[in-house]
Amino acid sequence: MKLDSLQKLYIDELRDLYNAENQLLKALPKMAKGASSEELKNAFEKHLGQTETHVERLEQVFAELNQTPKGKTCRAMKGLIEEGSEILKEDGEKSVLDAGIIVAAQKVEHYEIAGYGSVRTFAKLLGQDKAAELLQTTLDEESETNELLNQLAETGVNPEALMETELATTGSGR
Ligand code: FE
Ligand code: FE
Repeated sequence: MKLDSLQKLYIDELRDLYNAENQLLKALPKMAKGASSEELKNAFEKHLGQTETHVERLEQVFAELNQTPKGKTCRAMKGLIEEGSEILKEDGEKSVLDAGIIVAAQKVEHYEIAGYGSVRTFAKLLGQDKAAELLQTTLDEESETNELLNQLAETGVNPEALMETELATTGSGR
């Protein structure tokens, strides 16, 4: 596709997000399974449900554009998930691994926030108000998820990880 109009770039970016969300649908259950904290597991399970809705909203946007959502691979999401899966394979203190899983998940959310913010703005500019509204709703959910991850990290997982690390350090005499 020759990117000679904002409309084409808009569709191209929507396809990227559609592929990204579908990759995430497969990755989130693994992240939930890999997390030790119940709250973190719950957060991933909740976001899995939201992600199903994100896919549906994108399908709605495509239907109104008379376009197909398929045809692109989001290589960035592939990389982010790959990096996240490295943490899942690691051995270590549970809370330290959870803190690492949160980092990976927040990188994913920030990527989606950038993508949705951009397509929402394109939709507005192109006068596609219904699409802009749908994309804004998803954007808000991505932001809320990021905020929830911040809270989990700050109030539970990170302090616990620090404590476990300090104990481990003291224990080994370093
Ligand atoms: Fe999403
Ligand atoms: Fe997300």
